[in-house]
Amino acid sequence: MEDVDTSRCTHATGEHQLATLQSLGFEFNEPVLWQTRRFAAYRAEFERLRAQNQVYPCACTRSQMTQNFRTHCCAQGIKEGATIRTWRFRADSQMITWTDKTGHKHTQTVDDFVVKRGALSINEWTYALAVVIDDAYQGITNVVRGEDIRESTARQIALQQALGYPTPQYNHVPILCNAAGEKLSKSEQAPELDALNPVDVLLHAWRFLGGSDFDCTDVARFWKTMKTL
Ligand SMILES: [Zn+2]
Repeated sequence: MEDVDTSRCTHATGEHQLATLQSLGFEFNEPVLWQTRRFAAYRAEFERLRAQNQVYPCACTRSQMTQNFRTHCCAQGIKEGATIRTWRFRADSQMITWTDKTGHKHTQTVDDFVVKRGALSINEWTYALAVVIDDAYQGITNVVRGEDIRESTARQIALQQALGYPTPQYNHVPILCNAAGEKLSKSEQAPELDALNPVDVLLHAWRFLGGSDFDCTDVARFWKTMKTL
């Protein structure tokens, strides 16, 4: 459960998402791992990166960041007494090449990116760090997610390599957008999935992903059919 950003995700939101998934017939192989319960693990791996000199403190404000991105000024050290705003992974503009499940090859240059916010002692971890540590911890071999976060993949692979983790197979699927081309999300006031008609929701998603229509009246039947495809 990706609730690491506590300013945006509450425990109740997470529980609600899990209930929705279950109403759609999704089953979990293991108890759900909540990112907000994993801070000790993030701390331990962050300290490993720090010991390897692969993270450094950054004093830049947001507006300073937009000015100098590729050659990051804080990588050589910040002024004594400067306020540490974030901690960055030292990616050194390395080129990462990876192949999507569809066979499509991607090559991307990775710039130094934020893995933690605030002073050293503060437990504010970024999604990029948390997801990489959790995937390795849970032995995740296949990741299916929206293509809106495809561009974060190279950063995650760079982190995996620095931490000595295997890289899962990634598959990015199209996302539903509104007429303005924006992702349907809570911040755009998108309506919730219709929990009362889970079969309709599943069939709609299936057709959206290019599947052909089939007769289906209940959730169990939907998944049974999926397993035969
Ligand atoms: Zn900086």
